Amino acid sequence: MSKPRLRFAPSPNGYLHLGHALSALVTWDAAEKLGGTALLRIEDIDRNRCKPEFTQAVFEDLAWLGLSWPEPVLHQSERFPLYAEAANRLRDMDLLYPCFCSRADIAARATGTDPDGAPLYPGTCRHLSNAERIERLERGDPVQFRLDSGAAIARAGLLTYTMIGPTILDRPQIRYARPERWGDVVLQRKDVPTAYHLSVVVDDDAQAITHVTRGKDLEAATDLHVLLQMLLSASAVCYHFHRLVTDRDNQKLSKSKGSPSLRDLRAQGWTPADIRRAVGF
Ligand code: GLU
Repeated sequence: MSKPRLRFAPSPNGYLHLGHALSALVTWDAAEKLGGTALLRIEDIDRNRCKPEFTQAVFEDLAWLGLSWPEPVLHQSERFPLYAEAANRLRDMDLLYPCFCSRADIAARATGTDPDGAPLYPGTCRHLSNAERIERLERGDPVQFRLDSGAAIARAGLLTYTMIGPTILDRPQIRYARPERWGDVVLQRKDVPTAYHLSVVVDDDAQAITHVTRGKDLEAATDLHVLLQMLLSASAVCYHFHRLVTDRDNQKLSKSKGSPSLRDLRAQGWTPADIRRAVGF
């Protein structure tokens, strides 16, 4: 069997905090226990929010924690043509359609919420005629492209994936994926020809990742990734979901809520050993 390959894949839209430190430490520890390799991927498809100084800080913070990666870092912002090509394959299968709805349109007609609590897309643009699509595309209306999830799921059939936990050395379990709870997700955004779910699947395959270690907050999204892997003939991956670091109010840490960054803590005199202890390592 080939050597296990894992990855840590932060989005450089702010400085890393303790939640990222836990995720990185889980990944490198799992790679070591499995006798494999941990790689670094920069998920910087959001050209407005991601900044080169945050990417630079990821390198510095991880090195400060004592982590290193043996292969060149993959930057998603350099790979848009590859994601567009994957989207085109889905388009050729008739599984992608243009959507012209605004956020307000969707909020007004949503049919429920997805596992992240966001409004479920009501499918409005799935029903547009080809003539109407062409007219709106030619007019230059802002457009995003969505997966026709009903057709995609019918094509993929019953989907399962392998989950390892609570520790990385536990016996693998087989789980059923339930992508239907996400509805018709966006796979190509208005600003870039991809979206998180598409890029992550293309890149896990391109980097020959065997084990994805990620926080429990991304557990439900795995359903979609397994669906896309099947549709794009990408290799299957084992998943390991780790606990999240929470604040005093039991909320997940986040950049937007101003959780202290690793560099703030470092400036206050914390050592890498303090960080490890704080996240239970
Ligand atoms: N880039 C994602 C994040 O920072 C994680 C990607 C993944 O593990 O799939 O939340």
